[in-house]
Amino acid sequence: MTQLEDGFGRQFYYLRLSITDVCNFRCTYCLPDGYRPNGRNYFITQAEVARITRAFAALGTQKVRITGGEPTMRKDFTELLRTVADTPGITKVALTTNGYRLAKHAQEWRDAGLTHLNVSVDSLDPKMFHQITGENLFHEVMAGVDAALDAGFEQVKLNSVLLKGLNGKELDQFLDWIKTRPVEMRFIELMQTGEMDQFFERHHMSGEQIKQRMLQQGWQSVLREKDAGPAERFWHPDYAGKLGLIMPYSKDFCAGCNRLRVSAQGKLHLCLFGEGGVELRDLLAADEQQDELIARLQSALQTKRETHYLHQGDAGSTPHLASIGG
Ligand code: SAM
Repeated sequence: MTQLEDGFGRQFYYLRLSITDVCNFRCTYCLPDGYRPNGRNYFITQAEVARITRAFAALGTQKVRITGGEPTMRKDFTELLRTVADTPGITKVALTTNGYRLAKHAQEWRDAGLTHLNVSVDSLDPKMFHQITGENLFHEVMAGVDAALDAGFEQVKLNSVLLKGLNGKELDQFLDWIKTRPVEMRFIELMQTGEMDQFFERHHMSGEQIKQRMLQQGWQSVLREKDAGPAERFWHPDYAGKLGLIMPYSKDFCAGCNRLRVSAQGKLHLCLFGEGGVELRDLLAADEQQDELIARLQSALQTKRETHYLHQGDAGSTPHLASIGG
């Protein structure tokens, strides 16, 4: 049973924990000019990660997704993984990564307790991959995906932000790719963030239209688990893989929200598109503060809004998703 319930009866079993803002990719829709330090880059330490995870687990959280920035850029990444995985009550440890270190470390991370893996692969065409991510590392990332499949993760997913005029034409290639691979392919609808100007208008593709196309091709809905992510999931009898659609503009997106976020600066974010965040760091210095930390988490949750205001073009204070662990 979770003790994290907001004023709208939504229950929270799932924590997304960002451990760094630093990223080595320059994705056109996220950090086109690359990561720029802004003086705040003193990220949560291993001891702070342990206290955050313990407090959430005490309140019923079962799943932690580690994200960033690029989380695997942290030198102590494997130890951080182990810290989260060893926390009593945490049964699923997930990672969202661009995959650039995966080929070398998949097995080591699996052994440290990582159970679920999402790799961002915006194109299956090396040139388009380079154009979107700013890095010519397609083959390295795909070697990482193969290494992850060999390492025996419970689940491997590929994330792709579909962009009109860029990788939007590759829908069929992505589907072909999962015909024989037991991988979930997730198409993420582009979200408009604070630092995006005309990019959104030029490249946004409607998730709802992709969904209708998939339904016409015989894809069928999968029931949602209580700690499931934001995707609507589909299966097809002719495919080994599954399909997930993340559609932040769909009308029920917020009703199914079961996730809370903690940023690499140690702030609780109640919504990806919320305001400044609730400071936790003053309660992360010592184990004796756990009760106070738990009380702050519970009271902050009562201020969670019913929905985001993305439809009105309001991304809250989120300049780009790398700043809060997208
Ligand atoms: N560096 C890691 C990675 O590349 O997966 C983790 C952080 S990244 C911010 C997490 C996910 O957010 C990626 O799959 C990325 O494609 C997605 N993302 C970033 N900005 C986005 C946007 N404006 N709209 C939709 N998805 C976005």
